[in-house]
Amino acid sequence: MFGKKALRLLLLLMLSLALSPVHSFAAAWADVVYDAEVPVKTRENVASAIDTTADLLGKYKIVLPKDIKVVVTADLESYIQAYMFYSNVTRLQAEEYCKNTGGVSLRAKPVVIVRGTPLFMNSREEVYRTVPHEIFHQVQFQYGRVGTAVAWLTEGTPEMFRFIAQEAAGYGKVEDYLHRTENIIRKAPGLPDAREFIDYKRFQALRNQQGYPVYEMSVLMTARLIQDNGFENVIFFYQLLHNGSAPDKAFITAFRVPMSWFLTDMNAYFETLRNGK
Ligand SMILES: [Zn+2]
Repeated sequence: MFGKKALRLLLLLMLSLALSPVHSFAAAWADVVYDAEVPVKTRENVASAIDTTADLLGKYKIVLPKDIKVVVTADLESYIQAYMFYSNVTRLQAEEYCKNTGGVSLRAKPVVIVRGTPLFMNSREEVYRTVPHEIFHQVQFQYGRVGTAVAWLTEGTPEMFRFIAQEAAGYGKVEDYLHRTENIIRKAPGLPDAREFIDYKRFQALRNQQGYPVYEMSVLMTARLIQDNGFENVIFFYQLLHNGSAPDKAFITAFRVPMSWFLTDMNAYFETLRNGK
């Protein structure tokens, strides 16, 4: 008979295997699936973005517990179809979601779906705007357990990660991407209060219904954290969540400041930015 003790040992063994770095080359964790209509050039560009992402994950010593399936679609229609297939939503829900996004990372299973566009064929940099971001969401979901616990970090960190990936691939400096982002903030008709960026649904509503540059604000907020603490501390934050810490507690441990103080500081910073200082 298979005793409880043996079962526990087996589970422990499986867990340790899942957490140890067993992959010896770049993107062994990515199973990339292309729609038949996706051009060869696009496939090469996607492969390059995944390679750079793999290099960076290696640099930050991140090992994904589960391999990821990356589904690359040919256009909006096949993106909608793929989203319906992998996440069991209705056509209407899928259309609503897909029209506002260039890619999606599923939380319930390790699947990333990329919305195809003709731009991907001629601009590798364009692919780098989506692929590293969506793959980083898998790091959050797989590492963080409550990966969407703090909305602005949920979206700010993958954006920062893709800036780093773009710089690694030679498309420009992180600093320049941040300056461009600051300009968007300066020109925005209005900004919401950063303290509203905790709940993910509220956060997306601020973007999709009111048109606020919430992703841009979040990436600047993340950049500030990284500037003070290093990107490794963001990873540390997700590890703390993974180990059961509450988001507020994990935040103060990883970044040595209460989140409420940080958000108040960031509101002041955005104000300064918009007053031309
Ligand atoms: Zn995202």
